[in-house]
Amino acid sequence: MNLEAVLKRVRPNILALEPYSTARDECRGSRPEVFLDANESPYDNGLNRYPDPRQRALKEKVAELKGMSPEQLFLGNGSDEAIDLLFRVFCRPGLDNAVSIAPSYGMYSVAAATNDIAFREVPLRPDFSLDAEAVLAAADANTKLLFLCSPNNPSGNSFPAEEIVSLLKRFPGVVVLDEAYIDFSERPSLIPLTREYANLVVLQTLSKAWGMAGLRVGLAVADPGVAALLDKVKYPYNINIPAQKMALAKLDPAVREAHVREILGERVRVAKALQESPSVLRVYPSDANFLLVKVTDPDGLYARLIERKIIVRNRSRVPGCGGCLRITIGTPSENDRLLRALGIEVPGPADGVELLGDRHVRIRRKTRETDILLELNLDGPVGGTIRTGLPFFDHMLEQIPHHGGVGLRVEAKGDLQVDEHHTVEDVGIVLGEAIDKTLGAKLGIGRYGFVLPMDDSDAMVLLDFGGRIDFQWRAEFRREKVGDLPTELLPHFFQSVCAGARCNLHIAARGENEHHKAEAIFKAFARAIRMAVARSPFPYELPSSKGTL
Ligand SMILES: *Cc1c(COP(=O)(O)O)cnc(C)c1O
Repeated sequence: MNLEAVLKRVRPNILALEPYSTARDECRGSRPEVFLDANESPYDNGLNRYPDPRQRALKEKVAELKGMSPEQLFLGNGSDEAIDLLFRVFCRPGLDNAVSIAPSYGMYSVAAATNDIAFREVPLRPDFSLDAEAVLAAADANTKLLFLCSPNNPSGNSFPAEEIVSLLKRFPGVVVLDEAYIDFSERPSLIPLTREYANLVVLQTLSKAWGMAGLRVGLAVADPGVAALLDKVKYPYNINIPAQKMALAKLDPAVREAHVREILGERVRVAKALQESPSVLRVYPSDANFLLVKVTDPDGLYARLIERKIIVRNRSRVPGCGGCLRITIGTPSENDRLLRALGIEVPGPADGVELLGDRHVRIRRKTRETDILLELNLDGPVGGTIRTGLPFFDHMLEQIPHHGGVGLRVEAKGDLQVDEHHTVEDVGIVLGEAIDKTLGAKLGIGRYGFVLPMDDSDAMVLLDFGGRIDFQWRAEFRREKVGDLPTELLPHFFQSVCAGARCNLHIAARGENEHHKAEAIFKAFARAIRMAVARSPFPYELPSSKGTL
């Protein structure tokens, strides 16, 4: 269907609508410096101005990441806004109808009912495959929209591209393809088809793999003519300033990739483990970050999990999903907790050191005071979970994967009610051991150093393998704590790393701001690690620009 044919299906009042226009829209091109147009407060607190109604910066970034033009993009307050607006643009209340598959995402029918639009659900086959002929048979002259969700929520499967293309060619209205879970699927996104089919609208979201459900940002990708229709009917300022800023700052594909990788690994592990439980009848194959699981007693199991403070989605009353719970894949330890609550024995990483690859190690260390699981992969992401119970310490440790270009996962449970000391020190020792196992023993002799300036502070870190085990610390902290971390534990931490890694570690830092100074030390440490990891023939060479800065 071309754009002209799509526009024929738009409600006449929407085609005729003159959208709300702001003064700043009207003066595009000039660069105003004094804003006396919108009755805002002139006192700058970061929020006193209205947000950019066109979300230009965020659109550019999203468009670049997805390889399309910003004109094809509509950004909404979650995908839910795009779903509602599609009804408002295309469907005349009380007259038109929409078709969808069942079971599928509940918001489609809620938005249809809100807009007084008849909603026709076509059941998927018992194996959740798509019955394209039945979908076409459900449509008539007043059918404006078809909702397809692939990978589908709650069934978890995705539909072959050929079947969707065949519907794009034959369906008499707009096909809305919801790709909320596409990042977890083997199949590529069908966004490129929006250039060919003006009747295709692809929905994606920052709520799932991108980890920003709390921000409420969803996207619709379509022909620019269709995206413009959605823009025309949205509230002018539908995405607020903090959401636009945070989304821009957090759209990091390396982080998403690391998280997706961990989730995919966990999906396989959890599916396998669940199959061993006598109360599990079937685990459906999944292309998403959840599993649909048929069990003998869904209500009983659901209640048992609630008792253990674990919440899953009971889908057992949804037609086609009889007996089923939908279980989201969590972090490895959350998944372990779920499996144990279901009576499934979880071997878990053995106490001790496991070499998972040439430069990839997992260490589990349990003592009376702490229980630490640490995974270090010099060649890439292992999933970004870093959790010690001390948010500022987590923030510091996160500098190591970010600036070291390595994969690091740390899950530490310590006796924080007694003191932070054991947790910080033991994480240091285990991290040092992981460095030794992956790096130190192989490097033989190698010296790596880095000086890192950061605002008012700078830090110098020198790492030397193959020499004596020696720790030197030249950094003064005046404040007792930075965040929740006592500053006296910083040298303890690095001393522990030094002991574990059996290296020579010299650290010096100075500066005014204690947070910056601590961060500069961790960043410089990460950069020194990165130099060692790069196996550069000349160890004093500047590190390459590979990875994230
Ligand atoms: C979670 C989900 C969404 C996301 O909705 P947002 O409003 O963007 O958070 C969209 N579609 C489906 C099928 C989902 O499961």
